This record gives sequence, structure tokens and C-alpha cells, in this order.
Amino acid sequence: MENKVYFFNTLTRKVEQFIPNVDGKVAMYTCGPTVYHFAHIGNLRSYIMEDILEKTLRYVGYDVKRVMNITDVGHLTSDADTGEDKMLKGAKREHKTVMEIAKYYTDAFFDDCRKLNIKRPDVVEPATNCIPEFINMVKVLLEKDYAYIAGGNVYFDTSKLDDYYVFSSQSEKELMVGVRDDVSEDINKKNKADFVLWFTKSKFDNQELKWDSPWGVGYPGWHIECSCISMKHLGEYMDIHCGGVDNIFPHHTNEIAQSEAYLGHKWCNYWFHVHHLNDKSGKMSKSKGEFLTVSLLEEKGYNPLVYRLFCLQSHYRKPLEFSYEVLDNMTTAYNKLIKKIGELKADGSVDEEAFAGFRNKFEDAICSDLNTSSAITVIYDVLRSDINDVTKLELIKSFDEVLSLDLLKDHGNDKESSVDSELKEYILAKIEERKAAKKEKDFAKADAIRDELAAKGIQIKDTREGTVWEIV
Ligand code: AMP
Ligand code: ZN
Repeated sequence: MENKVYFFNTLTRKVEQFIPNVDGKVAMYTCGPTVYHFAHIGNLRSYIMEDILEKTLRYVGYDVKRVMNITDVGHLTSDADTGEDKMLKGAKREHKTVMEIAKYYTDAFFDDCRKLNIKRPDVVEPATNCIPEFINMVKVLLEKDYAYIAGGNVYFDTSKLDDYYVFSSQSEKELMVGVRDDVSEDINKKNKADFVLWFTKSKFDNQELKWDSPWGVGYPGWHIECSCISMKHLGEYMDIHCGGVDNIFPHHTNEIAQSEAYLGHKWCNYWFHVHHLNDKSGKMSKSKGEFLTVSLLEEKGYNPLVYRLFCLQSHYRKPLEFSYEVLDNMTTAYNKLIKKIGELKADGSVDEEAFAGFRNKFEDAICSDLNTSSAITVIYDVLRSDINDVTKLELIKSFDEVLSLDLLKDHGNDKESSVDSELKEYILAKIEERKAAKKEKDFAKADAIRDELAAKGIQIKDTREGTVWEIV
């Protein structure tokens, strides 16, 4: 298929045409949240923009498989592999067990995602599910001599790589290598940049979750989980790996080091990073104590989707400063837009030529390094144009597959919005099942599913945009 999506690849430091390993298919991985506290709206900026990337790829026709981990073990308060485990810190703070904390904040994270119309990835896997996979990778790294044991821990030996600082320019690399031999905060390390693959009890006696391993009872380092979880579900080659810019170093740098040492070949071609949301005092962070959450915005009367619009109005590669003033302006803009769309009348038939023209314009914007604010401008162009209302509505519905701002909701234009969510889930599951049956050429099954839905008063229709449904 035609590869029309372009975005900035942190690995090559330029905007590139996206070409997947397998034509038409995308293997995509996202670093998930560390579930020791609520996600702040900065974290959610990253997930909103990654959601836009996924939906853009689907919009232009790719079959995307997206995987996300949940960090419920091993992420330390310092990225230098020192300090306290973040999960343990959360558990102590709330007098709960680590698993209770993990469950509570994982659910809270997906609640926030739902409110922000962030699609749940196809696979979500907590790190604690994959301990055997981690142990296996560490074993192979030791066998291949990329790792060593010191002071009870297993470390990755960064000096074994020709190019460890893969995301840095030549001059940055020279600077970093210069500081590499400084006195390390961890005396066990051979090189400053070395990082822990497996901790043992010798260093962290009070760790709540521990597992047996060939190197003693202990727990994994933070970076290993993303390498193993992605390979478990996406195989040895990945197309796109996402995260916030703070993940570039050391997390993603270490992921590449261990994955490519393990595999013996290049692992992931495209690295997508979202810049930070800042408040007036600087980068928003969970460990600062006071932080902004979706619930707090709701308590203050803001629609979470207004925050989504706020994010979409700026480019993902620019730092964004949060302020209530701007959020107020966004609220006004959002309400006006919804009102305008609500005034459109769904009669007549779609002007196919106009539809294609505006759709191309929208695609051009969104496929040019995710220019979301230009994509939103296309909505205003559509509204201002003299095409008929039904074409306008169809276009806006189509754009909202990517933007996910509920542009047609609650205005009588979207029959789906009044249907209860359980029924909706059932219908969507049936549609998926039918799609799979058709793919397998099991048309009898596909027809049976359509009849089953029809018997319940649900009519489905296959359109250019996919299967749509309606309660009749
Ligand atoms: P964490 O839960 O700390 O593992 O972070 C979850 C995601 O949020 C990661 O992809 C981080 O890179 C990203 N992130 C952290 N802080 C911010 C911020 N202030 N703005 C945008 N993204 C962030
Ligand atoms: Zn990760």
C-alpha cells in the first residue's frame, strides 16, 4: 500500500516517510505508565499524541497491532538505577500492597484514557506477568557476554557496544563518553552507563515482590520489561516505539542496547517521542507531589476532551505550557465548534467529490508529522465551505476517527451516543468477529453474525470507512 505517513524519527533526527517492515501492517509499542500514582495530564499528553499516531495509521489503512506494558515493578525513583522502587514507595505511602497499588492505579489510568478517548492498546501486559521472559533474556545476554554479575546484581555492559548513545549526535556522544568514566554512584558497575538487568536481595532486602532466578531471589531492572513484552507480542522486528522525551535516555537507549545485543540485529526502525507538558515552574512530574490529573480538571468543571483539544492545538514536538487561561479559551472554542456542528442537518446525499477533496486535505495535514492543529483547521474549512450539510457531517465524522473529540456526540447526529456502553461493546465485538470470519472466508459465519444482530434490531452496513451500525 501507499506509505503516506511522515513523522519525526528520533533515531535519524529527521522527519521520515514511514515504511513498515511488512507492507500494510504496523507493529507498534508504547511504554505504559508506572502505576504507583495517578497519571498527570503531562503523561496523558504523551498518550493522547500516541493515540493520534495510531489512529492516523489506521485511518490511512494500516493494520496496526499496538502493545503497551504496565510498569508494576522495577522502576526506581532515580533513572540511574539507584534509589527506591517507585511501586514500593506508593505502597508505603498508602499502606497497601504493591499489587493493590498497581491494580488501583492501572484502573485509574484506563479510566482517564477513556475520558480522553484514548483507545486501549490491543495488548496490555503488566511487567509482573513476564518474569520468565525477563530471566531468559538476561540469561542470553550473560551467555553472549553482554552482561556481568557484580555485587549480586546482573548488569548490562555498555562498553561491549560500538554505539551505545544511539539517539545522540556525534558531538553529544563525545560529551557523554567524556563523563562515562566518572566515579559511578554504584561501585559494582564497570562503566558509568551500565545498567541493572536483575537485582537480587543482596541489595534490596525490603523489596515486596521477588522472584527466584539463576542469580538469586530478586527482581528485574526497569528497562528489560519493554524489550521482552514487545518481543513477546510483536516478534523480533518492531516498526514504531513510542514514549515521552524523558524516555529517550536512559530508558529507550537501554532498551535498544539490550534488545539488539539479544537479537543480534536491528530491532526497531522508528522512534516517536512526545515533548513535555510543563507547568509554570517547569516539567510536570508525579514525584513533585502536587500534580494535575483528569479528575482535578473535571472537579473544576472542565470537559476532559477540552484538554485533548488543548493538546491537539499544539505540535507534539514542542514543549507545551499548561494554563487554565488557555484551557478556558479552548472550552469556548470547543463549545462553539460543537454548536456549529449541531446545527447541521443530516439530509440529502454525500457529495463524493467534495468529500474526497477535504479528506485528502485532512490526511495531508495529519500525515505531515501529525500536524494536528492544521488538521483541526480543515474542520473549520469544511464548516465554512458551501458543500451540503450531510457531506459536512460525514467529513467531520471521518476526521473524528483520528481526532476523537466527540464532535458529533450529543447533538442528535450520532445515534450511537445514546446506546448504553455494554450494548455498544457487544456490537463492536460482534463486528470484529464478523470481520475475522470474512478474512477467513467463512461467509456463512459472517452472515450468521449479521443475522444475529439484525434479530436484535441492530443493522450493520459495510462502508468505505469500515462497518457501521444502527439501531433500527
Ligand atoms: P511514567 O508513568 O512516569 O512511566 O510515564 C508515563 C509516560 O509519560 C512516559 O511515556 C513519559 O515519557 C511520559 N511523561 C512523563 N512526564 C511527562 C510530561 N510532563 N509531559 C509529557 N509526557 C510525560
Ligand atoms: Zn518502556
